[in-house]
Amino acid sequence: MKEFLKHHPWQIIEEGFDPHYHTISESVFSIGNGQMGQRANFEETYTGETLRGSYVAGVYYPDKTRVGWWKNGYPEYFAKVLNAPNWIGLDLRVGKHVLDLATCKVEDFRRVLDMQAGTLSRSFVATLADGKKLRIAAQRFCSMARGEVGAIRYAFTPLNFSDQVTVSLFVDADVVNKDSNYDEKFWEEVYKEASTACAIVTAQTKKTFFHVTTGMRYVITSGGQPVKIDRTDIVEREKFAGNQVVFSVEQDKEIVIYKYAAVLSSENHAKNELVTAGKQVLDDAVKAGYDALLEEHQNIWKHTWDVCDITIEGDIAAQQGIRFNIFQLMQTYTGKDERLNIGPKGFTGEKYGGVTYWDTEAYCLPFFLSTAEPKVARNLLVYRYKHLPKAIENAHKLGFVQGAAFYPFVTMNGEECHNEWEITFEEIHRTSAMAYAMRDYIAYTGDKAYLAEYGLEVLIGIARFWAQRVNWSSDRNKYVILGVTGPNEYENNVNNNWYTNYLGAWTLKFTLDAIDYVKSTFASRFGEIAGHVHFKEAEETTKWREIVEKMYYPEDSRRGIFLQQDGFLDKELKRVSDLRPEDRPLNQKWSWDRILRSCFIKQADVLQGIFLFEDDFEMETIRRNFDFYEPMTVHESSLSPCVHVILASKLGYKSMAYDLYLRTARLDLDDYNNDTEDGCHITSMAGTWMSVVRGFGGMRVKNETLYFTPFIPDQWASYSFRVEFRGRVLKIKVSKDGVETKLESGAALEILVNDAAVLLK
Ligand code: BGC
Repeated sequence: MKEFLKHHPWQIIEEGFDPHYHTISESVFSIGNGQMGQRANFEETYTGETLRGSYVAGVYYPDKTRVGWWKNGYPEYFAKVLNAPNWIGLDLRVGKHVLDLATCKVEDFRRVLDMQAGTLSRSFVATLADGKKLRIAAQRFCSMARGEVGAIRYAFTPLNFSDQVTVSLFVDADVVNKDSNYDEKFWEEVYKEASTACAIVTAQTKKTFFHVTTGMRYVITSGGQPVKIDRTDIVEREKFAGNQVVFSVEQDKEIVIYKYAAVLSSENHAKNELVTAGKQVLDDAVKAGYDALLEEHQNIWKHTWDVCDITIEGDIAAQQGIRFNIFQLMQTYTGKDERLNIGPKGFTGEKYGGVTYWDTEAYCLPFFLSTAEPKVARNLLVYRYKHLPKAIENAHKLGFVQGAAFYPFVTMNGEECHNEWEITFEEIHRTSAMAYAMRDYIAYTGDKAYLAEYGLEVLIGIARFWAQRVNWSSDRNKYVILGVTGPNEYENNVNNNWYTNYLGAWTLKFTLDAIDYVKSTFASRFGEIAGHVHFKEAEETTKWREIVEKMYYPEDSRRGIFLQQDGFLDKELKRVSDLRPEDRPLNQKWSWDRILRSCFIKQADVLQGIFLFEDDFEMETIRRNFDFYEPMTVHESSLSPCVHVILASKLGYKSMAYDLYLRTARLDLDDYNNDTEDGCHITSMAGTWMSVVRGFGGMRVKNETLYFTPFIPDQWASYSFRVEFRGRVLKIKVSKDGVETKLESGAALEILVNDAAVLLK
């Protein structure tokens, strides 16, 4: 755990420059607007350790798979969300000396991510090798109002000299992905153009042929007036275009450079219109000017916070944590474009990049259900509906037949692109996350007709997968599921992972219910779907029913717990508290076989199942399982602590719930798992939101009704959150004195608070 960031309710603040923390900060201070985003790289030259990263939503490259030992069924490629052309570049040179924080003396360094305003700022005093001192104050944002616009205000003041300076302003498409499998460059130049105060580069991705046009314009001022420029050189080289500007500066006189950027992709424009459109976007941005662009951007953030802020009084670390999570989620996915999804690292890093995982359905969906209009969550479901043909193809490649659908673990376009056998082939539970998401969506919105429109077709595909993936064990007289990896990836190739078996059987049951519903309510649509998927209704549903009835679930009746998988109790059962601090995180310290043999659990597994299906279990069953598994869980997946917070809250383990909450809310801020430098854990941030709303707030939807059973952690004076529910906006405030509920908009609604009916008007 690293605690180098200051606590503040609305800001993330780093004071003093320590290069060791720089790559972590580059992740934490990332900014984005759903359409593009970037790590908090410095605008100017930096020769120290850095992970340069700018990303454009939906633009990816199929990097040829690299594995030690090829296995049949591996995908040929891994879809990478690309490090896209860099638009922030602004190099500053005084005489022979380049401003570079790795080589000059840095004082008064302060980096601030203002979550209320959506801006990244940085200020410091730099002393160059020849003793010349400059004060720098830079600010930038990716406009929430204009998804294709980024803007920088870069101010500097010479503190002890007057001289000529050279500033380079450019766009650079000669960028690489650090995780490129074969050190290949993914971009090729299509077009470039540079003139005074303007540069544009269009680059295309190899193989996928996405075009991205990145343009910049700038204005250099002092005292509000344009600066007299001594010389402007046009600089062009492959994939690079910019200007080198020379002008004189005077001691104590501030220079302000406004750099405007346009980032457009062929996802949103015809390729042959990109340059013209880019120029127009730039033109409009320059005309509006930095302050107006900033104001419209901040207005959107204000509106966003009005809807989805969570306030916590009496605990700044917790308050900062939750806002950071909401902020990062909102700048990753706005729900405006139904072709997009939520990558585990969003726009903050390469590892896991912006590709889609089961994280979306299992973790993010509840957040968007409660904080955005229903169509946003619906779009997330439809996204997977559109990938159904690919899911069928994925299953087919692995030998499944008759329209069985196997949703990918990692994907951009529906095609599987993960290539570790124990996950690609065996972590099969993910395919049912799509079914569970439908259940969640329907329960929350009441939109059951979704099943007829899209859902049933997906469910039939997934059900067929399970029906073919199970096998009959004559020894047990039960159906079993062999050779799987559960959510706990610190176990591979196990038999009868309880979570997987439970989810598989549940999916079959849910599909059977959906069939009954669609058949009785939308008979002709049912006929259409059945014809389209060649449904052998009697034969298939009989088999599914039998599997549901005869599924095997590993249990230990003596302890009264579900077993994570067959043989789990052969392990040496230890507690995480027995581990030495130097052994953590296990995945960075232990050999893989040692991890697999140990009892330590990466992320909620049995408990994940209990969390998803809590109404199926008695409180005491939940308690026994929680008491057994929680002490063995290392939470080395970011997706884990939030599930434990929610269950601990339900069980009344208040202080544990609070500790785990801090762990999920401050996971990246305090770098708990020593991996924030790779990027922030965006998808688990929705889990943090769930920790407050479903955990502490105890929110559930049952039988079309909202329930709350709130408690307040001892450390807090109060907390409040808003949820959208069926056309209403509700505000819930919990303090030591009790619970206040308010209907902020929409028609009257009855809810249950601690099992008592409350009519909100
Ligand atoms: C977790 C997976 C998750 C992935 C992306 C892994 O570490 O084990 O469950 O889908 O990260 O967040």
